[in-house]
Formats: sequence, C-alpha cells, structure tokens
Amino acid sequence: MVRHVSNAKFSLATVFSLLVGIGFQRAGAAAPSCPGDFAVQVLGSGGPVPEGHRASSGYLIWIKGHSRVLVDAGGGTFLRFGEASAKIEDLSLVAITHFHADHVADLPALIKAGYFSDRTRSLPISGPSGSDEFPSLTAFLHAEFSSPQGAFAYLSGALDGTGGEFKLDPVEVALPRAVPMVVLETSDLTVLAAPVSHGPVPALGYLIRTSAGTIAFSGDQNGNNPVFWEMIQGADILVMHLAISEHPDPVAAKLHALPSVIGKQAAGARVKQLVLSHLMARSLATLPENLKTIRQYYKGHVSVTHDLECFSPQPVAQ
Ligand SMILES: [Zn+2]
Repeated sequence: MVRHVSNAKFSLATVFSLLVGIGFQRAGAAAPSCPGDFAVQVLGSGGPVPEGHRASSGYLIWIKGHSRVLVDAGGGTFLRFGEASAKIEDLSLVAITHFHADHVADLPALIKAGYFSDRTRSLPISGPSGSDEFPSLTAFLHAEFSSPQGAFAYLSGALDGTGGEFKLDPVEVALPRAVPMVVLETSDLTVLAAPVSHGPVPALGYLIRTSAGTIAFSGDQNGNNPVFWEMIQGADILVMHLAISEHPDPVAAKLHALPSVIGKQAAGARVKQLVLSHLMARSLATLPENLKTIRQYYKGHVSVTHDLECFSPQPVAQ
C-alpha cells in the first residue's frame, strides 16, 4: 500500500519535474530553491556510475530560502548547485562524508566558483581523518590546493585566503570515535558528525539540527555502527543510501547496507521519514523487492528520490 503511494508520488513528481525542467530549459532560468523554514534538496541521487539522470552524491540544506549546508560534492553536483539557485555566499558548512570520488569530485569546481562570488568570509569544511589508503580532510585539501604541489595550486587561496579567494576552515573528525562530534554550531544551526562503517574507508554520517527539526545523512555505510544510529534517534528525515539489493557481492556488502538492515535500523532509530538515494542500476533493478524488504521493518513514509527533489520535516499532527 505505502509502496504504491510512494511510487505514485514519485511518478507525479517526475512528470512535474520534467515539465518544469523543460520550461526552465527554454527560459534558460534555474529551478527554484526549496520552500519553507527547513528542507533538504537532493543534488545528486546517484552513485559512482553514470546511469541516466542522476548526479553522484550531494545534498543541500535550505533554511528560510538560504542554502546553508552542502553535504558532499560528487560529480554533477556543481551543475545541480546552480540549477537549485544555491549561493556559495550563503553556505555555513561543507560537510564531506568520505573521500570516494563520487562524493568529492566536484569540490574544486565549487571552490573555483567561489572566486566569482561575493563571499569573503571563511567557509568551514568538515570531513574524516585518514587511513593508509585514504587521505584525511586536511591532506585532501592540501593535495588539491597547496602551492606549488597541489593539483589546483592556482586555487591555493582556499588554504590561506589570498588571491581574492575565501579561506576553507577544516574541521577534521578523528576516527575511530565512540561519540558524535559537533562540527558546526551557529545561532540557528547545529551539525553533528558520527562515524559510519563503509568497509575500509574512513567515513561519516551527519545530523543537521534546527528549531524546525532534524535531518540526517547516512553517507555510504553498511549500517553497522551504533554511534550513528544513536545520534539520529527520532530524526525527522533520514537520507539513506540504497546502493545494493538484499543479495549483493561480498565486497559491496561490506560497503553498503542491505535493504533489511536499512529497514531495521531506521525503525530502531524511530526516524519519521526515509528518503532513499545513492541509487544505482543494481539497486533499482530490484527496487520493488528492496522496498518490500525495507517496509517489513520500517513503517514510516519512504520516498525514492531523484535529483533536485526537496523534503521537509512533516508538521506534527494536532
Ligand atoms: Zn563510498
């Protein structure tokens, strides 16, 4: 029943977005930002494979019409950032989950775009510490932007604020850890990071908290780290990555959560709304079965998202 409702919503939304997209293409204008006090907009609902109309991983948090937090910047999110009418000047944080290419490949392009913006104040950027195989946030930024060794040494102002660029302020989350870490706290916004299990990759999930509710991001994870699930207890929205079916190959099973794990953990954490993203041909091929498995355990609202879709916490019933 709920699957039917979810699919119907998806179809209507898809038709609407196609119509709107055609209109905006003709007009040469951008799509509107998310309405309301607090929302997440999906910039990239896909994974590492170019399989149609999905960018790689990326999400925007909107607060009262302002694009305040960018979670990941995978390939294609640069384009979607513009289509969403997001502003680099409005960002309070870039929150990176991990350093797989489908989560950070567009970061230099967005930093370069900042040169052409009015932003002068520094921009906090959070991410995990490193391992033998993966760089820490600090090492990644140096590999990209340091001068003269960095791949984009001409953007070295991102590290020191020189050359007409705004400075990135790294907030590195040391892993492993047993408790979440506050990576940003402002007058209207708190962002926490928690470790997640993504095979051998140091990785984070995030929780965004405002007076209008909470939105959580799984990042890529196999669902097995309790610190993340404790952090997001009662979240209004969980953006969860559905990258595999119930019977994946052993490597994929270490990296990503089975549909049954998604259902059990979302139910255990009492999240109010589940948004499935990071969709790939291999998880979409068995989508009806995957949704059925999730719904065996999780009884809240489930959405299968697409790029540029917005989600807001639902008002509490009186
Ligand atoms: Zn990954």
